Amino acid sequence: MALMLYDTYERRVRPFTSLEPGRAGLYACGPTVYDYAHIGNLRTYLFGDTLRRVLRLNGFEVRHVVNITDVGHLTSDADSGEDKMEKGSRRTGRTAWDIAAHFTQAFQRDLERLRILAPTVWARATDHIPEQIDFIAAIEREGFTYRTSDGIYFDTARLERYGHLARLDIAGLQAGHRVDLGEKRAPTDFALWKFSGAERRQMEWDSPWGRGFPGWHIECSAMSTRYLGALFDIHIGGEDHVPVHHSNGIAQHEACHGHPPARYWLHGAFLRLQDSDKMSKSDGSFIRLDTLLERGVDPLAYRYLALTAHYRSKLVFSWAALDAAQTALGRLRRAYHRLPPGGTADAAMRERMLAVLNDDLNTPRALALAWETLKSVLPGDVQKATLRWLDEALGLGLDEWRPDTPTVPDAVLELLDARTRARAEKRWTDADALRAAIEAAGFVIRDTAAGPVAEPVSA
Ligand code: AMP
Ligand code: ZN
Repeated sequence: MALMLYDTYERRVRPFTSLEPGRAGLYACGPTVYDYAHIGNLRTYLFGDTLRRVLRLNGFEVRHVVNITDVGHLTSDADSGEDKMEKGSRRTGRTAWDIAAHFTQAFQRDLERLRILAPTVWARATDHIPEQIDFIAAIEREGFTYRTSDGIYFDTARLERYGHLARLDIAGLQAGHRVDLGEKRAPTDFALWKFSGAERRQMEWDSPWGRGFPGWHIECSAMSTRYLGALFDIHIGGEDHVPVHHSNGIAQHEACHGHPPARYWLHGAFLRLQDSDKMSKSDGSFIRLDTLLERGVDPLAYRYLALTAHYRSKLVFSWAALDAAQTALGRLRRAYHRLPPGGTADAAMRERMLAVLNDDLNTPRALALAWETLKSVLPGDVQKATLRWLDEALGLGLDEWRPDTPTVPDAVLELLDARTRARAEKRWTDADALRAAIEAAGFVIRDTAAGPVAEPVSA
C-alpha cells in the first residue's frame, strides 16, 4: 500500500518513492530563535513528526534535519527591517548569542514535552557560515547575483521558473511594487548576503563581498545540501513558506544545480485563534506550551488536538476544544491502561489504520479507528496491541502513561470527566455539583500538569 503525499510543487497527491530504497531524507525548516515558540509553530513540528513516524511505519529509515535560524531572519520578508536576533537582544538586554541559546533550549524542551522525535541533525545557521558563503559564491559564478549598497542580491528575473512552487504572478507583483523597491531590480529579488555597513552588529562575518551576514534563505540551501545532498526526498515547513522562503530556496538551488533541492514539498496549515486570522510571534500575543501547562493542561492534549485536524486544514484554537481533547485523551489512556497485555495487533485493523495514515496522513480518521478498536469485539489484549501499533504514528505515548491514582474507582473517574466537560462547556453549576459528588465519594480534585486528577481525601 503506497504512501500518498500531497506535493505542493505539483499541487497533487502522489505516491511517495525515495531516492534510496528504505531511506528517506527529510528537511524541516526550523524556528527563528529570538522568542519562544507558540503553539502554532508547534503544530507545524507535530505535522513533521507525524510524517516522520508514518515514513517509519512504512519501513523507511528517516534522516531528519532541522535548522535553527539564529541569524539573518529580518523583521520584514522584503529584506528590510532589523535582524530578529539583534532586535531580541535590544528588547531583553542580553546578547544575541545568549538569546539564541536560551530559545533553542526552550524550543527543544517543548518538542520533548510533545513527544516529537529529536531530529537526526540539528543544524545551526551560525555554525555553517562557510557553507553559506560557498553557496552564494556558486550562485554568483552562475551569474544570478547583483550588488547593491547594502548587499548581494539574487536576480530572480534570470530564472525562468522562479516562483513556480507558489504559482507566483510575477507580472502582477512587479506592477504592484514599483514604488518601494529601493535598489532591488524586482520585488521578488532577495538578499543572499547583507553588509554590516555602519551599524555595529553582534553577529557578523568576513566574506568575499564584505563584512556582514547571510540572508535567511541561504542557510537552508547550504545546510540541506551539506546533510542530505544536492537532491533529497522531502522538504517541509509551514504554509507561509510557500511564496517566499521555499520559493527562494528553490531559486538558489536551481541557479547552482538546475533543479529544486527536494522531490516532494509538504506544507502544514496554520493554527489560528478564534478571534484573529493568525497567531504570530511578532505581535507578542501568543500562546506557548507553558501557557497550557500553567492552566493544568497536559502538553499531549495539545498533540491530540492537533491530530484531530488534517495537517492541510486550518485548525482554530479554543480553550474549549483543548479541554475536549484533554478529556478524550484521558479516556483513551484509561481505556488502554485497563486492557490486558500480551496480544498481537489485529492485522485487518492495522491495515485499515495504515491505509488512512498513508492517505496523506489522515490523522483524524486514524483517531476514529482508535476509538473503533476500543468498541470492537476484538479481545482486550489484541485491542491493546493494535492501539500500541497505531500509537507509533500518533505519538501519544499511551504505553508510557501511568494513572496518578490507580485506586480511584471508575465511577469517580467518570464524574471527573463529566466535570471537565461541564467546565469546558461553561456549565458552572453542573461542574460544582459534580465536584460535590466527587467529594461526597471521598475524593478531592487536584490540578496537575497532566490535567485534573481525583485523590482520596486522606492522600
Ligand atoms: P518561525 O520560528 O517564525 O521561523 O516559524 C517556525 C515554523 O512555524 C515555520 O515552519 C512556520 O511556517 C510555522 N508557523 C508560523 N506560524 C504558524 C502558525 N500560526 N501555525 C502553524 N505554523 C506556523
Ligand atoms: Zn528553511
